[in-house]
Amino acid sequence: MDVLTTPADMRAWSERARAAGDRVGVVPTMGALHRGHLALIEHAHEHADRIVVTIFVNPLQFNESADFDSYPRPIDDDLGVCRAAGVDAVYAPTAAAMYAPGFQTRVVPGDLAERLEGPMRPGHFEGVATVVTKLFGATRPHAAIFGQKDYQQLTIVRRMVTDLDLGVEIVAVPIVREADGLAMSSRNVRLTPEHRAAATVLSKALHAARERYDAGERDARALRRTAVDMIEDGAHAELEYVEVVDADTLVPIERIDRDAVLLTAAWFGGVRLIDNVRLAPPSTAET
Ligand code: AMP
Repeated sequence: MDVLTTPADMRAWSERARAAGDRVGVVPTMGALHRGHLALIEHAHEHADRIVVTIFVNPLQFNESADFDSYPRPIDDDLGVCRAAGVDAVYAPTAAAMYAPGFQTRVVPGDLAERLEGPMRPGHFEGVATVVTKLFGATRPHAAIFGQKDYQQLTIVRRMVTDLDLGVEIVAVPIVREADGLAMSSRNVRLTPEHRAAATVLSKALHAARERYDAGERDARALRRTAVDMIEDGAHAELEYVEVVDADTLVPIERIDRDAVLLTAAWFGGVRLIDNVRLAPPSTAET
């Protein structure tokens, strides 16, 4: 497995793979790899011949320096995980290589970034769109694999690839969960045992709403209320939002007469968690 740390070295690696006729697949991550990331790597093998995992804790997308500073960075473990998963190259640039003095160009997403997470995390999606564009520029992928865990991010990246003619196939992977339902996240290790136990209320609340949807409820306000009540009744949870939105536009809807997503964000102690569930007929529901 090759480990590359500069955009130039990464691009040269990818150009060699392309010249050999291989399809290149990239899995962008911030490291602290868990089974959610592994599911992305597995999907990458189905869509590409050569797999690149990028590991970069992107300062541009953090709106709280404490969150950036405390973000886990177990790089040696991560390299071991990638090797075992049959990854061909890890691209782990330094912040200095990514944002050299004089850096000033950013990618500004549109309306999709103003909703849900947008008001809570000013500048976050601009940071994401910028770094994903840079990672695509360095890795030159045919396909890129993203998790539905970060549903809004996935939607924004798809839009960006279309709008900017980036020509990268975007592959979406369902949320991987712990046995008790908690969506896997690199931030889960920062939960105290008490908050870790309390955090399961998020997936339980989404599941309860999804069950009502499956039983025929199509009033978005009623489904939202089910989830809100459960989360607010749970211990330790400080709820930020529960929204039912159109799966493509992320615009809130009142009646679920098309593909929709129920999304939530809440704090447990100092840790902010997000989760979501598709509200769609069983044949199209993926999470
Ligand atoms: P992160 O390292 O948290 O920035 O995540 C990197 C990629 O892994 C993103 O596309 C995430 O959506 C995806 N991901 C993170 N956690 C999960 C999960 N539990 N299930 C599926 N995908 C995930």
